[in-house]
Amino acid sequence: MSKTVLNVNGIEVIYNHVILVLKGVSLQVPEGGIVALLGGNGAGKTTTLRAISNLLKGERGAVTKGSIELRGERIESLTPADLVKRGVVQVMEGRHCFAHLTIEENLLTGSYTRSDKAEVARNLEKVYTYFPRLKQRRTSQAAYTSGGEQQMCAIGRALMASPSIVLLDEPSMGLAPQIVEEVFAIVKDLNARERTTFLLAEQNTNMALKYSDYGYILESGRIVMDGAASELAGNEDVKEFYLGVG
Ligand code: ATP
Repeated sequence: MSKTVLNVNGIEVIYNHVILVLKGVSLQVPEGGIVALLGGNGAGKTTTLRAISNLLKGERGAVTKGSIELRGERIESLTPADLVKRGVVQVMEGRHCFAHLTIEENLLTGSYTRSDKAEVARNLEKVYTYFPRLKQRRTSQAAYTSGGEQQMCAIGRALMASPSIVLLDEPSMGLAPQIVEEVFAIVKDLNARERTTFLLAEQNTNMALKYSDYGYILESGRIVMDGAASELAGNEDVKEFYLGVG
């Protein structure tokens, strides 16, 4: 049995003191796993990731119940910067590359918490091994790269922080299907060869289940189903409501 890296236990999140958005969400991510958090628009996927990386304050949101543990230690009171130092790294929806920096400069911003230069150089080489396109475009300004390359850059930047877990928010958004497939295949490869652990929030259920080990389905702030990815992909309700197959 793999160790649990992340344990989210019954969290409630309220926005603006009144809007209850997460109504007791629990999920676990094992070391070396790819876990998908699935659900439609507004189900609460981004809110769950923001709660884990303590990014709710800027949105006037707060965790009001439950606990979040990284390798058995409570982390709800850590600052977002401390969470990155501890290896909890989020790749935001919409990619958020620095448009005026080159791809390589963007990647290096991901290593600001690492003081070991040799580790930074190793991580950069690793990113270029998994994302050869980024190596080709290393001196290009991010603004002039494609949506797929910017998504790869955002994931690469997270890897520069030597993460314990990468929280990937909707990596498929705005990308053509074959690019989504390319990005997910790299995520799977990183997971298989480096044992990088991922929690992946996705509306693209089909693609997410194809590349993850386990999935949770979130509906209106509650987990309504969970199971092995292969089981969920074969489940009649999941097919009907999330895979667009009757
Ligand atoms: P999407 O795929 O559209 O991003 P999601 O599953 O990630 O959906 P969230 O973005 O977490 O869902 O939103 C969950 C609910 O919380 C929605 O009803 C949304 O309107 C609400 N919400 C999100 N951010 C805020 C905020 N800052 N203030 C108030 N309500 C918010």
